[in-house]
Amino acid sequence: MPLIERCQCDGRVFAVLEAYGLPMRQCRSCGVMHQHVEMDASGLELWYRERYHTEIYQHSYDHDRSVAAKRLGRIDIHRIHSMQHAMWMNARK
Ligand SMILES: [Zn+2]
Repeated sequence: MPLIERCQCDGRVFAVLEAYGLPMRQCRSCGVMHQHVEMDASGLELWYRERYHTEIYQHSYDHDRSVAAKRLGRIDIHRIHSMQHAMWMNARK
């Protein structure tokens, strides 16, 4: 089972490719890429703490902004409101 089953935009269809010498998957919906490898929690933490931002991350502000806009466009605001309402009701019990 892949570490990431679905994208943060809720996309579930990925292109499989190689980038930076690593096996990657790219979300067909928003274009974000992630590594297609199995890591445990400590390996994942080490990757982002030690290597990702210095060796891999190359996006511009405009790219990040356009991806964020696509993700926001896919958020189901009614689902979020119903979840918040349920949490609020549970907190009152
Ligand atoms: Zn996505």
